[in-house]
Amino acid sequence: MEKPTNKNFITNIIDKDNNTNKFGGRVHTRFPPEPNGYLHIGHAKSICLNFEISKLYGGKCNLRFDDTNPEKENIEYIESIKNDIEWLGYNWDSLHYASDYFNDLYEYALLLIKNGYAYIDSSTPDKIKEERGTLTEPGINSKDRDRPLEDSLEIFKKMKQGDYKDGEYVLRLKIDMSSPNINMRDPVIYRIKKFNHHRTGNEWCIYPMYDFTHCISDAIENITHSLCTLEFEDHRDLYNWIIKKIKHRNKPQQIEFSRLTLEHNLMSKRKLSELVDKNYVSSWDDPRMPTISGMRRRGFTPNSIKDFCNRIGITKKNSSIEMGVLENTIREELNISAKRIMGVLDPLKIIITNYPDNEKENIKAYINPNMPDEGYRNISISKEIYIDKSDFMEFPEKKYFRLSPGKEVRLRHAFNITCDKVIKDKDGNIIELECSFDPISRDMNKGNKVKGMIHWVDAKNCINVNVNIYDRLFENTKPLDLGNFNKKSLIIKKNSKIENNININDYEARYQFERVGYFIRDSKSPNKDLVYNKIVSLKDSWKK
Ligand code: ATP
Ligand code: MG
Repeated sequence: MEKPTNKNFITNIIDKDNNTNKFGGRVHTRFPPEPNGYLHIGHAKSICLNFEISKLYGGKCNLRFDDTNPEKENIEYIESIKNDIEWLGYNWDSLHYASDYFNDLYEYALLLIKNGYAYIDSSTPDKIKEERGTLTEPGINSKDRDRPLEDSLEIFKKMKQGDYKDGEYVLRLKIDMSSPNINMRDPVIYRIKKFNHHRTGNEWCIYPMYDFTHCISDAIENITHSLCTLEFEDHRDLYNWIIKKIKHRNKPQQIEFSRLTLEHNLMSKRKLSELVDKNYVSSWDDPRMPTISGMRRRGFTPNSIKDFCNRIGITKKNSSIEMGVLENTIREELNISAKRIMGVLDPLKIIITNYPDNEKENIKAYINPNMPDEGYRNISISKEIYIDKSDFMEFPEKKYFRLSPGKEVRLRHAFNITCDKVIKDKDGNIIELECSFDPISRDMNKGNKVKGMIHWVDAKNCINVNVNIYDRLFENTKPLDLGNFNKKSLIIKKNSKIENNININDYEARYQFERVGYFIRDSKSPNKDLVYNKIVSLKDSWKK
């Protein structure tokens, strides 16, 4: 696996900054999630970037919760975000909350009013929007733009005390209503919101807006390179304007990179939370979800996610990544590391008629052929076995080399069998097959050469499990909303049989079910109702 120390356009900028001594050689990044949902794979890209860059330069990386919108945020999200970052293997140098800066932010707002850079506006939100102008037309000055400083100061203080209703007033920066950059047209930086905050309780009833909070938080924390996604490119002027006007000694630099979008997925906490709230999926960590917790439960490893982030690289060009790229990283890892067993998802019973009753034999097979040092496992076989329904065809198509009436096939690791008889119930459904085996073929070189090889499990020595098979979450490559949800994204196999060589108490163990795919125990399934999650297929099924 490549080390995630690839050079990219951001490290080029940092190298240059270090050469010119712009930040005195310091590199200090931060990951600034809003705690309004669980993290997704897009966030993983940002986490890897920020933490790896700080590692690469011997710098620091903070975790900062951007918690300025109390209505949508809560402690559960905060805990899950910390947990996901740690699971990925990263440790933040210090932990912060934007809400810790509410006092500083308030003081800076007062300073801006005093210096004539901010004013209180009583216009309605609609009016403010209307007066903002468009990309082609300049905005219009608000009627309140020239409100005396003293009035603005007084109203702002009263806003803080809770003297007004939500929406009655806002605080706006006084920049330029005719700026070609709409973000510079007197943006709102404070609004009244009488809502309890998960950390500050009812101490505040005015809350600062993202653009105002973010740059000042960066400056307070001594951040040098503030890495964010491309949609903030047009906010950079505002970022720099605020830092300049508050005369902060630290002048962090905002650098934008492209967001990750993954085909057949939605990358937005808001939309993912809709999937949970409307019961499209069972929870934030449903194994179909592109959340870090969902991928963890699905069986992805921290390394596979980091490897993926490294492979897609960091650029300024937005693009959508194919699911195959993500799945390849875990498939390649598991091919090397996963223990092998056999598992039959849709069992069909076979009676080997010429196999002695009440006898069994043990077959030796590698635990993992890529890791011969791990040794062998014993697989038992006896008179009754299960094969997968899909490995039998009563009326075989051309080129079907697996089992069918009169045909001989090899049982993986064991011997050859020939299908002699198909047993059906009175409705004509196949219930079992009678086969005979060729004892000579225990030695692979001695029996008939056959084209088909199938997997199986010993009916007397296997474990019953449920298996969850997952498919893409949305049918479209670029879904816009939940309308595209793939109703077949979860298929449950209720009666699967797997080889006994499995440690059901090891929740971290990932197995290859030979010929089928990679699986892990679902961490939420109880012992009496075991569920195995399919992590990924053996081959890339996305290739067209
Ligand atoms: P969402 O819509 O999912 O909530 P967000 O950007 O609003 O996304 P934040 O919690 O504010 O979510 O994001 C924290 C950090 O993660 C930000 O720096 C943001 O730019 C970055 N980030 C979010 N989504 C992606 C993505 N798809 N690709 C790369 N970085 C992302
Ligand atoms: Mg957001």
